[in-house]
Amino acid sequence: MPRVGVLAIQGDFLEHRQVLERIGVDAPEIRLPHQLDDVDGLIIPGGESTTIVQLIDIYGFRKTLKAKSKAGMPIWGTCAGMIVIASSLSDRRPEPLGLMNIRVSRNAFGRQFDSFEQDLTVEELEGPPFHGVFIRAPAVKKIGDGVRVMASLDDGRPVAVRQDRLFATAFHPELTDDTRIHEMFVRIVEGAN
Ligand code: GLN
Repeated sequence: MPRVGVLAIQGDFLEHRQVLERIGVDAPEIRLPHQLDDVDGLIIPGGESTTIVQLIDIYGFRKTLKAKSKAGMPIWGTCAGMIVIASSLSDRRPEPLGLMNIRVSRNAFGRQFDSFEQDLTVEELEGPPFHGVFIRAPAVKKIGDGVRVMASLDDGRPVAVRQDRLFATAFHPELTDDTRIHEMFVRIVEGAN
């Protein structure tokens, strides 16, 4: 079984760890850059992207994360994590890491849709639709070369994207009982997908 680290500097990292543990995957908390050497993949959780990026820079993660990603480490960003790994934002802050070829807009669904839920058909996921939980979610504004849309809202807006071993969801699979998307990421980490 691979080891999937969860960036544990802010946000709902505990929920991700609990899902991974439920499916039998070792999920150490990553609080310092050198701990990335001990894991095969990384989840960047939801939370507050400006705070997460600030702490990434304070703890010196930026260079290591870029190098790890370039070397092929699978990374999955959920919600704020999607903002963190994007190549550009339509917002002035924060400065994203520029790992995945997407342009993202923060809090893009407006006040009326601050939080909402929608059943999603996710590519490569067997079984019934996946219940998507969205909380002040980002929107993917532009899809760059090599990026594949894995799920969209009913209105066509993409909410799950993949670029090789990088994966991002605007919603929060860690807040549901459904472990299928975590299992999918583990398969990416195993190199089986
Ligand atoms: N709106 C938050 C941000 O901009 C993300 C929200 C979330 O991760 N649930 O960082």
